Amino acid sequence: MTSYRQNNCNKYNLKEIATLTLAMTTSMLRLYNTLTRSIEVFEPISPPKVGLYTCGPTVYDYTHIGHLRKYINDDLLKRVLIANDYQVKHVMNITDVGHLVSDADEGDDKLEKGAKERNMSVWEVAKFFTDYFFKSIHLVNIQRPDIVALATEHITEQIKLIEKLEKKGFIYQTEEAIYFDVSKFSDYTRLSRQSLKDKAVGVREEVRVDRQKKNPVDFALWFFTVGHFADHTMRWSSPWGEGFPGWHIECSAMSMAYLGDTLDIHTGGIDHIPVHHTNEIAQSEAATGKKFVNFWVHHNFLVVNGEKMSKSKKNFYTIEDLIKKGFDPLAFRYLILTAHYRDKLNFTWESLQGASNALNNLKEEIRAWEKPKGSAGKFWQKFLESANNDLNMPQAVAVLWELIHNTDPDYDKSADLVEMDKILGLGLADYIGKPLQIPANVLKLIKERENARKSGDFAKSDALRKEIKKLGYDVEDTPDGPKIK
Ligand code: AMP
Ligand code: ZN
Repeated sequence: MTSYRQNNCNKYNLKEIATLTLAMTTSMLRLYNTLTRSIEVFEPISPPKVGLYTCGPTVYDYTHIGHLRKYINDDLLKRVLIANDYQVKHVMNITDVGHLVSDADEGDDKLEKGAKERNMSVWEVAKFFTDYFFKSIHLVNIQRPDIVALATEHITEQIKLIEKLEKKGFIYQTEEAIYFDVSKFSDYTRLSRQSLKDKAVGVREEVRVDRQKKNPVDFALWFFTVGHFADHTMRWSSPWGEGFPGWHIECSAMSMAYLGDTLDIHTGGIDHIPVHHTNEIAQSEAATGKKFVNFWVHHNFLVVNGEKMSKSKKNFYTIEDLIKKGFDPLAFRYLILTAHYRDKLNFTWESLQGASNALNNLKEEIRAWEKPKGSAGKFWQKFLESANNDLNMPQAVAVLWELIHNTDPDYDKSADLVEMDKILGLGLADYIGKPLQIPANVLKLIKERENARKSGDFAKSDALRKEIKKLGYDVEDTPDGPKIK
């Protein structure tokens, strides 16, 4: 992309370049960058390669559908990048050590606490919930990142980064920990745009404070297994003494180890802006002297009655809960697609039912289509334009429905659908030209129900309908007779 521009720049005057740029912008990917608080044309450092880093889960409890919203949106971003012909290297961490109860490095380690509560070892807890996480993301068709990096398997990288910071004079040591000295780093709050004074007040409200800490906003890079952490199970030797890494250092160390000093895109929930990502920028840029991330992409929450769905508020559902209630996990994925990633999304069972109906209707329509004959056309282009417009998936879904409702008999709708579904990830392409195969036992029940209805035995007809539903089918009574879904 860069070379195309460079090669062509000499041929045009400034006005023409502006017009050309505008024309190109309509089909180029644009993303909202939290760092600049504006939508910018996305350009990677070394096209067509893109380095994408996403903050992964802290594996001490069940993955809930709030988490899944965030990972579905990461997955959509990755799929949109691929649709724009980028070669994406996607790295995600697994936090299996060092994330304390408060994000500001205070209180107990979430993993150690989870292990005690469940009477398991920390290693067992980490393994159990990491597996649960991957099962959950698989159910909603999220592609596994190219590299999954466990914090406990990258202790050397984290120590090396702290050593770099030590050489440059950014750290100090207390009896309890090694801290990053925020006063040595200029413009520390550039991402959150908070004043340091406000941030300090927030931190003082946290659970447990190291009295030797010079400044409340300083954050831990390495905890020693002394005092409060004397019984901490996970521990490693380091040049400064035995202990374990703080949470923030793992993301800087692992992202830079796999993607280089400057990342194209880093994502995370909006809760990570004021502490975790602010600290990642400070420690990475202090160590390398280079810009850490070009594009910061932050996702908004899935909420319940206006409150963030979270483990601590106990207002969460897992994807298993949804399945137990009879929902296809992909209906949840469809629901996520109907809200923009920067907006809150209020979860209700009614909205999930609506998404489920919409997905079923889509499949119904597609079953009657012919296999694709050629390449994708105008609806796909319009869909991609919406996706490229800061991942406007609600608009893209509206274009999908335009395609569904298009009545031009010569239009190769399937070709467009196949491309759209590569981004949507709803498994729609599998339904093209596949009429519903109804097993003989279901057909028998449908006939029995029809007879019951004709003879006015509605109690029996309702009971049979329930039985049919249990087998995964639904009967809709239409003027042309029963319609099976
Ligand atoms: P955690 O495992 O708590 O570190 O969270 C992992 C990721 O999930 C973070 O990026 C959070 O921002 C995100 N997350 C947690 N709860 C929600 C929610 N209710 N809606 C959307 N994202 C969430
Ligand atoms: Zn992180």
